[in-house]
Amino acid sequence: MQKIVAKALELGRAKTSEGHVATYIPELGKVDGSQLGISIHSITGERIALGDTNVRFSIQSISKIFSLAMALELCGPEAVFKNVGMEPSGDPFNSLLKLENTDSSPYNPMINAGAIVVCSYLVPVLPFEAMIETVRKLCMDDDIVIDEKVYQSEMAHISRNRAIAYLLESKGYLVGGVEESLDFYVKMCALSVTSDSLAGMGLLLANDGILPRTGERVLKRETVKTVKTIMLTCGMYDGSGEFAVRVGIPSKSGVGGGLLSVVDQEMGIGIFGPALDAKGNSVAGEYVLEYLSRSLHLHIFDKRRR
Ligand code: GLU
Repeated sequence: MQKIVAKALELGRAKTSEGHVATYIPELGKVDGSQLGISIHSITGERIALGDTNVRFSIQSISKIFSLAMALELCGPEAVFKNVGMEPSGDPFNSLLKLENTDSSPYNPMINAGAIVVCSYLVPVLPFEAMIETVRKLCMDDDIVIDEKVYQSEMAHISRNRAIAYLLESKGYLVGGVEESLDFYVKMCALSVTSDSLAGMGLLLANDGILPRTGERVLKRETVKTVKTIMLTCGMYDGSGEFAVRVGIPSKSGVGGGLLSVVDQEMGIGIFGPALDAKGNSVAGEYVLEYLSRSLHLHIFDKRRR
Protein backbone atom coordinates (compact mmCIF):
# COMPACT_ATOMS: atom_id res chain seq x y z
CA MET A 1 0.00 0.00 0.00
CA GLN A 2 2.90 2.37 0.82
CA LYS A 3 4.02 2.22 -2.83
CA ILE A 4 0.56 2.98 -4.16
CA VAL A 5 0.19 5.94 -1.80
CA ALA A 6 3.63 7.23 -2.84
CA LYS A 7 2.56 7.05 -6.48
CA ALA A 8 -0.71 8.83 -5.64
CA LEU A 9 1.30 11.60 -3.95
CA GLU A 10 3.61 11.99 -6.94
CA LEU A 11 0.72 12.14 -9.43
CA GLY A 12 -1.33 14.32 -7.09
CA ARG A 13 1.46 16.88 -6.75
CA ALA A 14 1.33 17.46 -10.50
CA LYS A 15 -2.36 18.36 -10.13
CA THR A 16 -1.88 21.11 -7.54
CA SER A 17 -1.12 23.65 -10.27
CA GLU A 18 -4.65 23.14 -11.66
CA GLY A 19 -6.28 24.67 -8.56
CA HIS A 20 -6.15 27.86 -6.53
CA VAL A 21 -6.07 28.50 -2.80
CA ALA A 22 -9.19 30.15 -1.35
CA THR A 23 -8.85 33.92 -1.05
CA TYR A 24 -12.28 35.02 0.22
CA ILE A 25 -10.84 34.51 3.70
CA PRO A 26 -7.64 36.56 3.13
CA GLU A 27 -5.53 34.53 5.56
CA LEU A 28 -6.16 31.37 3.49
CA GLY A 29 -4.82 33.17 0.42
CA LYS A 30 -1.33 33.19 1.98
CA VAL A 31 -1.06 29.38 1.97
CA ASP A 32 1.32 27.69 -0.51
CA GLY A 33 -0.95 25.88 -2.98
CA SER A 34 1.69 23.39 -4.10
CA GLN A 35 1.58 21.45 -0.81
CA LEU A 36 0.18 17.94 -0.58
CA GLY A 37 0.13 15.52 2.33
CA ILE A 38 -1.53 12.10 2.69
CA SER A 39 -2.08 10.36 6.03
CA ILE A 40 -3.61 6.93 6.45
CA HIS A 41 -4.49 5.32 9.78
CA SER A 42 -5.73 1.78 9.44
CA ILE A 43 -7.72 -0.24 11.96
CA THR A 44 -4.94 -2.82 12.05
CA GLY A 45 -2.53 -0.16 13.36
CA GLU A 46 -0.71 0.62 10.11
CA ARG A 47 0.24 4.28 9.65
CA ILE A 48 1.28 5.95 6.42
CA ALA A 49 2.25 9.64 6.29
CA LEU A 50 3.70 11.00 3.05
CA GLY A 51 4.32 14.57 1.93
CA ASP A 52 3.22 17.63 3.90
CA THR A 53 1.58 15.78 6.76
CA ASN A 54 2.97 17.97 9.56
CA VAL A 55 1.72 21.26 8.19
CA ARG A 56 -1.12 22.82 10.22
CA PHE A 57 -4.02 24.30 8.28
CA SER A 58 -7.53 25.36 9.18
CA ILE A 59 -10.13 22.63 9.22
CA GLN A 60 -12.87 24.88 7.75
CA SER A 61 -15.93 22.95 6.59
CA ILE A 62 -14.62 19.63 7.84
CA SER A 63 -15.52 20.98 11.29
CA LYS A 64 -19.15 20.48 10.25
CA ILE A 65 -18.91 16.74 10.84
CA PHE A 66 -17.54 17.30 14.35
CA SER A 67 -20.33 19.72 15.21
CA LEU A 68 -22.91 17.36 13.75
CA ALA A 69 -21.50 14.41 15.69
CA MET A 70 -21.56 16.30 18.99
CA ALA A 71 -25.06 17.70 18.39
CA LEU A 72 -26.30 14.15 17.69
CA GLU A 73 -24.61 12.92 20.86
CA LEU A 74 -25.84 15.71 23.13
CA CYS A 75 -29.23 16.66 21.68
CA GLY A 76 -30.29 13.46 19.86
CA PRO A 77 -31.21 12.98 16.19
CA GLU A 78 -34.81 14.07 16.56
CA ALA A 79 -33.87 17.50 17.90
CA VAL A 80 -31.02 17.89 15.39
CA PHE A 81 -33.11 17.10 12.32
CA LYS A 82 -35.98 19.29 13.43
CA ASN A 83 -34.39 22.42 11.98
CA VAL A 84 -32.01 20.95 9.40
CA GLY A 85 -32.57 18.38 6.66
CA MET A 86 -30.71 15.38 5.24
CA GLU A 87 -30.87 16.19 1.52
CA PRO A 88 -28.07 17.33 -0.80
CA SER A 89 -28.79 20.92 -1.78
CA GLY A 90 -27.06 20.95 -5.16
CA ASP A 91 -26.12 24.57 -4.41
CA PRO A 92 -22.79 26.10 -3.36
CA PHE A 93 -21.98 25.78 0.36
CA ASN A 94 -22.65 29.43 1.15
CA SER A 95 -25.85 29.84 -0.85
CA LEU A 96 -28.88 31.61 0.61
CA LEU A 97 -31.17 30.79 -2.29
CA LYS A 98 -33.17 27.82 -1.01
CA LEU A 99 -33.29 29.27 2.47
CA GLU A 100 -35.08 32.34 1.19
CA ASN A 101 -37.03 30.89 -1.74
CA THR A 102 -38.45 27.76 -0.16
CA ASP A 103 -40.24 27.02 3.10
CA SER A 104 -37.60 24.45 3.91
CA SER A 105 -35.08 24.61 6.74
CA PRO A 106 -31.42 24.27 5.60
CA TYR A 107 -31.12 21.23 3.35
CA ASN A 108 -28.32 19.53 5.29
CA PRO A 109 -25.72 20.07 8.04
CA MET A 110 -22.80 20.28 5.56
CA ILE A 111 -23.79 23.59 3.98
CA ASN A 112 -23.09 26.78 5.94
CA ALA A 113 -26.75 27.42 6.79
CA GLY A 114 -27.18 23.90 8.18
CA ALA A 115 -23.90 24.01 10.08
CA ILE A 116 -24.79 27.32 11.73
CA VAL A 117 -28.08 25.77 12.90
CA VAL A 118 -26.13 22.79 14.28
CA CYS A 119 -23.71 25.12 16.09
CA SER A 120 -26.72 26.95 17.56
CA TYR A 121 -27.77 23.65 19.16
CA LEU A 122 -24.34 23.33 20.76
CA VAL A 123 -24.06 26.88 22.12
CA PRO A 124 -26.35 26.30 25.14
CA VAL A 125 -24.98 22.82 25.97
CA LEU A 126 -21.24 22.82 25.23
CA PRO A 127 -18.72 25.57 26.12
CA PHE A 128 -16.30 26.09 23.23
CA GLU A 129 -13.29 24.97 25.28
CA ALA A 130 -15.03 21.64 25.91
CA MET A 131 -15.74 21.37 22.17
CA ILE A 132 -12.04 21.84 21.31
CA GLU A 133 -11.14 19.24 23.92
CA THR A 134 -13.58 16.84 22.24
CA VAL A 135 -12.15 17.50 18.77
CA ARG A 136 -8.66 16.76 20.17
CA LYS A 137 -9.90 13.46 21.51
CA LEU A 138 -11.75 12.48 18.33
CA CYS A 139 -8.66 13.26 16.21
CA MET A 140 -6.19 11.87 18.75
CA ASP A 141 -4.30 15.16 18.45
CA ASP A 142 -3.71 17.24 21.60
CA ASP A 143 -2.22 20.15 19.66
CA ILE A 144 -5.41 21.35 18.00
CA VAL A 145 -6.07 25.04 18.81
CA ILE A 146 -7.89 27.94 17.19
CA ASP A 147 -5.74 29.59 14.51
CA GLU A 148 -6.34 33.15 15.71
CA LYS A 149 -5.24 34.75 12.44
CA VAL A 150 -7.68 32.64 10.42
CA TYR A 151 -10.44 33.28 12.96
CA GLN A 152 -9.89 37.07 12.86
CA SER A 153 -9.56 37.02 9.08
CA GLU A 154 -12.89 35.22 8.62
CA MET A 155 -14.58 37.41 11.23
CA ALA A 156 -13.48 40.49 9.28
CA HIS A 157 -15.16 39.07 6.14
CA ILE A 158 -18.22 37.47 7.65
CA SER A 159 -21.02 39.41 5.93
CA ARG A 160 -22.39 36.51 3.92
CA ASN A 161 -22.44 34.04 6.82
CA ARG A 162 -23.90 36.75 9.06
CA ALA A 163 -26.66 37.28 6.47
CA ILE A 164 -27.34 33.53 6.51
CA ALA A 165 -27.37 33.48 10.33
CA TYR A 166 -29.86 36.36 10.59
CA LEU A 167 -32.07 34.81 7.93
CA LEU A 168 -32.03 31.58 9.96
CA GLU A 169 -32.91 33.51 13.07
CA SER A 170 -35.77 35.32 11.36
CA LYS A 171 -37.21 31.94 10.39
CA GLY A 172 -36.90 30.60 13.92
CA TYR A 173 -34.34 27.87 13.19
CA LEU A 174 -31.68 28.88 15.71
CA VAL A 175 -31.63 27.59 19.28
CA GLY A 176 -28.64 29.55 20.61
CA GLY A 177 -28.27 33.31 20.00
CA VAL A 178 -27.45 34.40 16.47
CA GLU A 179 -24.05 36.03 17.13
CA GLU A 180 -23.00 33.28 19.57
CA SER A 181 -23.91 30.59 17.03
CA LEU A 182 -22.00 32.38 14.28
CA ASP A 183 -18.98 32.81 16.55
CA PHE A 184 -19.04 29.11 17.49
CA TYR A 185 -19.22 28.21 13.79
CA VAL A 186 -16.31 30.46 12.77
CA LYS A 187 -14.15 29.26 15.67
CA MET A 188 -14.83 25.66 14.64
CA CYS A 189 -13.75 26.48 11.06
CA ALA A 190 -10.52 28.05 12.38
CA LEU A 191 -9.30 24.98 14.26
CA SER A 192 -5.83 24.08 13.04
CA VAL A 193 -5.24 20.45 12.14
CA THR A 194 -2.86 18.31 10.10
CA SER A 195 -3.70 15.56 7.63
CA ASP A 196 -2.78 13.19 10.47
CA SER A 197 -5.47 14.65 12.74
CA LEU A 198 -8.06 14.16 10.00
CA ALA A 199 -6.95 10.56 9.46
CA GLY A 200 -7.42 10.05 13.21
CA MET A 201 -11.08 11.11 13.08
CA GLY A 202 -11.53 9.10 9.87
CA LEU A 203 -10.23 6.02 11.64
CA LEU A 204 -12.61 6.55 14.57
CA LEU A 205 -15.54 6.77 12.16
CA ALA A 206 -14.31 3.71 10.23
CA ASN A 207 -14.14 1.85 13.54
CA ASP A 208 -17.74 2.61 14.43
CA GLY A 209 -16.94 5.27 17.09
CA ILE A 210 -14.47 3.17 19.08
CA LEU A 211 -10.87 4.33 19.61
CA PRO A 212 -8.90 1.36 18.22
CA ARG A 213 -5.98 1.79 20.60
CA THR A 214 -7.95 1.72 23.84
CA GLY A 215 -11.23 0.13 22.82
CA GLU A 216 -13.10 3.10 24.31
CA ARG A 217 -16.39 3.99 22.64
CA VAL A 218 -16.44 7.78 22.17
CA LEU A 219 -19.33 8.15 19.71
CA LYS A 220 -22.59 6.23 19.58
CA ARG A 221 -23.03 3.75 16.74
CA GLU A 222 -26.08 5.64 15.50
CA THR A 223 -24.17 8.95 15.45
CA VAL A 224 -21.35 7.44 13.40
CA LYS A 225 -23.76 5.86 10.92
CA THR A 226 -25.55 9.16 10.37
CA VAL A 227 -22.35 11.19 10.01
CA LYS A 228 -20.87 8.78 7.45
CA THR A 229 -24.07 8.70 5.41
CA ILE A 230 -24.27 12.49 5.29
CA MET A 231 -20.59 12.64 4.30
CA LEU A 232 -21.35 10.32 1.39
CA THR A 233 -24.38 12.27 0.17
CA CYS A 234 -23.40 15.86 1.03
CA GLY A 235 -19.70 15.98 2.00
CA MET A 236 -18.15 17.28 -1.21
CA TYR A 237 -20.22 20.42 -1.76
CA ASP A 238 -22.23 20.41 -4.99
CA GLY A 239 -19.80 17.83 -6.36
CA SER A 240 -20.97 15.13 -3.93
CA GLY A 241 -22.91 13.04 -6.49
CA GLU A 242 -20.11 12.76 -9.01
CA PHE A 243 -17.57 12.12 -6.25
CA ALA A 244 -19.73 9.29 -4.89
CA VAL A 245 -19.80 7.63 -8.32
CA ARG A 246 -16.13 8.12 -9.19
CA VAL A 247 -14.57 7.61 -5.75
CA GLY A 248 -17.24 6.19 -3.46
CA ILE A 249 -15.48 6.95 -0.17
CA PRO A 250 -17.51 9.00 2.36
CA SER A 251 -15.52 12.25 2.61
CA LYS A 252 -15.76 15.83 3.79
CA SER A 253 -13.73 18.65 2.32
CA GLY A 254 -12.95 22.15 3.52
CA VAL A 255 -11.73 25.33 1.82
CA GLY A 256 -8.52 25.13 3.86
CA GLY A 257 -7.63 22.25 1.52
CA GLY A 258 -8.36 19.41 3.93
CA LEU A 259 -10.17 16.17 3.15
CA LEU A 260 -11.30 13.62 5.70
CA SER A 261 -12.30 10.24 4.30
CA VAL A 262 -13.60 7.02 5.78
CA VAL A 263 -13.05 3.56 4.33
CA ASP A 264 -15.54 1.76 6.52
CA GLN A 265 -14.13 -0.94 8.79
CA GLU A 266 -10.68 -0.32 7.32
CA MET A 267 -9.06 3.10 7.56
CA GLY A 268 -9.24 6.84 7.94
CA ILE A 269 -7.58 9.00 5.30
CA GLY A 270 -6.57 12.63 5.86
CA ILE A 271 -5.35 14.79 2.99
CA PHE A 272 -4.02 18.34 2.85
CA GLY A 273 -3.95 19.92 -0.60
CA PRO A 274 -4.91 23.59 -0.44
CA ALA A 275 -5.27 24.24 -4.19
CA LEU A 276 -9.03 24.03 -4.80
CA ASP A 277 -11.31 23.53 -7.78
CA ALA A 278 -14.23 25.84 -8.55
CA LYS A 279 -16.51 23.99 -6.12
CA GLY A 280 -14.09 24.33 -3.21
CA ASN A 281 -12.67 20.80 -3.18
CA SER A 282 -8.93 20.05 -3.12
CA VAL A 283 -7.93 19.28 -6.72
CA ALA A 284 -5.03 17.06 -5.78
CA GLY A 285 -6.97 15.56 -2.88
CA GLU A 286 -9.80 14.43 -5.12
CA TYR A 287 -7.31 13.04 -7.61
CA VAL A 288 -5.47 11.11 -4.88
CA LEU A 289 -8.70 9.64 -3.52
CA GLU A 290 -9.85 8.54 -6.95
CA TYR A 291 -6.46 6.95 -7.57
CA LEU A 292 -6.50 5.13 -4.23
CA SER A 293 -10.12 4.09 -4.68
CA ARG A 294 -9.36 2.49 -8.06
CA SER A 295 -6.03 0.95 -7.10
CA LEU A 296 -7.11 -0.46 -3.75
CA HIS A 297 -10.80 -1.07 -4.55
CA LEU A 298 -11.95 1.29 -1.80
CA HIS A 299 -15.27 2.28 -3.40
CA ILE A 300 -18.08 1.55 -0.98
CA PHE A 301 -19.72 -0.71 -3.56
CA ASP A 302 -16.58 -2.37 -4.90
CA LYS A 303 -17.00 -6.01 -3.96
CA ARG A 304 -13.28 -6.66 -4.42
CA ARG A 305 -12.66 -4.65 -1.23
CA ARG A 306 -11.17 -6.76 1.55
N1 GLU B 1 -15.44 29.09 7.12
C1 GLU B 1 -15.82 28.82 5.78
C2 GLU B 1 -17.07 29.56 5.40
O1 GLU B 1 -18.00 29.58 6.12
C3 GLU B 1 -15.97 27.35 5.59
C4 GLU B 1 -16.28 27.01 4.19
C5 GLU B 1 -15.83 25.67 3.73
O2 GLU B 1 -14.79 25.14 4.11
O3 GLU B 1 -16.57 25.13 2.90
O4 GLU B 1 -17.17 30.15 4.38
